[in-house]
Amino acid sequence: MSRYIVKASKLVTVSELGTILDGALIIQDGIILNVGTWGDIKQNVVETEDTLIDYGGLVIAPGLIDCHTHLLEFAPTSLYPVTKQTQLLAAKAILLKALASGITALGEQICGSPMLYTDVDELKKSVEDFPIDISFASTSISIGLETLLHFTSITGSLCVEKNVLVQPEIVRSIAKQNEFAGENVFINATPANFAKELVPNAGKIIYSQEELNTIVSIFHSLNKKIGTHVAGSEGIEMALQANFDVLHHAHGISSEQIERASKQNIHIVATPLGGTHLPPNTIEEVKKMIQANITVAISSDGYLPPHENTVTFPKILQGLIGPDSLMAIAHPYMKAITQLGYDENKALSLITLNPAKILEKESLFGSLSVGKEANFIVSEGVPGLEVVDTDRIKAVYFRGEKMIERS
Ligand SMILES: [Zn+2]
Repeated sequence: MSRYIVKASKLVTVSELGTILDGALIIQDGIILNVGTWGDIKQNVVETEDTLIDYGGLVIAPGLIDCHTHLLEFAPTSLYPVTKQTQLLAAKAILLKALASGITALGEQICGSPMLYTDVDELKKSVEDFPIDISFASTSISIGLETLLHFTSITGSLCVEKNVLVQPEIVRSIAKQNEFAGENVFINATPANFAKELVPNAGKIIYSQEELNTIVSIFHSLNKKIGTHVAGSEGIEMALQANFDVLHHAHGISSEQIERASKQNIHIVATPLGGTHLPPNTIEEVKKMIQANITVAISSDGYLPPHENTVTFPKILQGLIGPDSLMAIAHPYMKAITQLGYDENKALSLITLNPAKILEKESLFGSLSVGKEANFIVSEGVPGLEVVDTDRIKAVYFRGEKMIERS
């Protein structure tokens, strides 16, 4: 089936076309060939041999994107009792769950795992056939245990001295491997998934301003964007000065810092479940970012235990949470944005078009636009706004092929 038409009572395109009632898409060879009202498409473009898939009263929206995850390195051993031999099976089970929840693209962070280290290229190869578009960020990481531990994506499963993190050859190798501005550098040490009392150094600032400036300039000299794991006004101040392209988390960012981030055209990946030493992004923070015209994505940072202050369905989300809960994680923020007067397309952009921009792949996917990959989901309402429960996603298409179907 290289060409077909799919129609539904509502298309939320997350493009300049906005929402199209009684809309249709023509898909050819995995690409969106046409988008419009069913009336227009029927009159002008339908050929007699075209197959029509009619989703009736359902909603068609772009595939969801989680641009900050740790699914391949840390999640397998956190969620399954696997060994090096079975790690990949667990990773694929985790990816399948994400796909079944409407996720068609991911931004994976590869930090150098102390548990089960796998070379980044090997990891990439092992999932390249999986029907989710996965972009990889190569990072270093500093974990705020009693004794600070540092790792990098290129130095294997043994920890390294802090001075290794700033060696130009190391930074250059990490940058060369890097595919998008992920949490490439941890300005603040992370609590990771450890209990509070085990990570007294979580939040500690690891770098000097000069060191950060140098790391950023090395990435930029190689024509690579760079992001940072950061929280708290002091760390965010350093990130703004060093000219990072993307702030991940940015928990506790001030209104004044939001304004400056906007002027510097810095994107922000909010992580409502947690992920740093501080309480996660408030709804107020994210509203201000949107009002300041910042490109904001909402991500799971999964798999993660939700912070006690998360505003996201604290009762529903228990245990370790990942991208299969992205709609529930984003829901309160998306709702707040519509209450500011923005429409459902703007709200949905937090988990579709904006993360596609973070991944630097917005020309490939992220909206229902002519020429983009046919990555879309069919659901019982607008994802993340009217629908937070994965069971209400009825179909998931990746590059034009139906990968998930629920009755
Ligand atoms: Zn992370």
